[in-house]
Amino acid sequence: PTARWPEVRRMTLAYVGLGSNLGGPEQQLRDAFDALAMIPSTRLLRRSSTYRSRPVGPKDQPDFLNACAELETDLTAHALLLELQAIETHQGRVRSEMRWGPRTLDLDLLMFGSSRIDDETLVVPHPEIPNRGFVLVPLAEIVPDLRIPGMGHVQDLLETVGTGDVARVPGP
Ligand code: ATP
Ligand code: CA
Ligand code: CA
Repeated sequence: PTARWPEVRRMTLAYVGLGSNLGGPEQQLRDAFDALAMIPSTRLLRRSSTYRSRPVGPKDQPDFLNACAELETDLTAHALLLELQAIETHQGRVRSEMRWGPRTLDLDLLMFGSSRIDDETLVVPHPEIPNRGFVLVPLAEIVPDLRIPGMGHVQDLLETVGTGDVARVPGP
């Protein structure tokens, strides 16, 4: 019989993108970081500054505040997604018909370790990362040397995306 090592728990580094343009976005992001820090079997390791950006899609809505977070977790990617969705709901997110409409809080799972996932409920890394300055700027702030599976180095992605409408919000 083969010797069995005690099962080693494998922590995964995960990155989450935060966005809000309703219901007091500054407070929404503060509350969201607090909630991320409370997810079971998970630690909040880093948080980016806050950035202001123009909305994607329908333009007749307020500017967004965006940020991102680095988590270390024992959860699976799908379990983490459920935690993120519970936080969105808790902070008053209403799922509307309008794609990319205004929302109190959007939490996207940007990356989950080296995992590449593509199923009904979850696509990781998030496919829009290379197209979004408001994701790349805060991500590069907290992990300047990040490599994203299948997408490349965060600095190379930053060079090819427009970041002109992403402004750091001065703050503590
Ligand atoms: P986008 O994904 O382009 O930023 P969105 O954030 O507005 O759009 P939502 O309405 O928040 O989209 O989510 C729609 C669905 O996307 C969710 O029900 C979820 O199952 C799915 N989804 C797939 N991949 C991810 C991911 N990496 N992070 C969060 N949700 C995801
Ligand atoms: Ca999103
Ligand atoms: Ca989302």
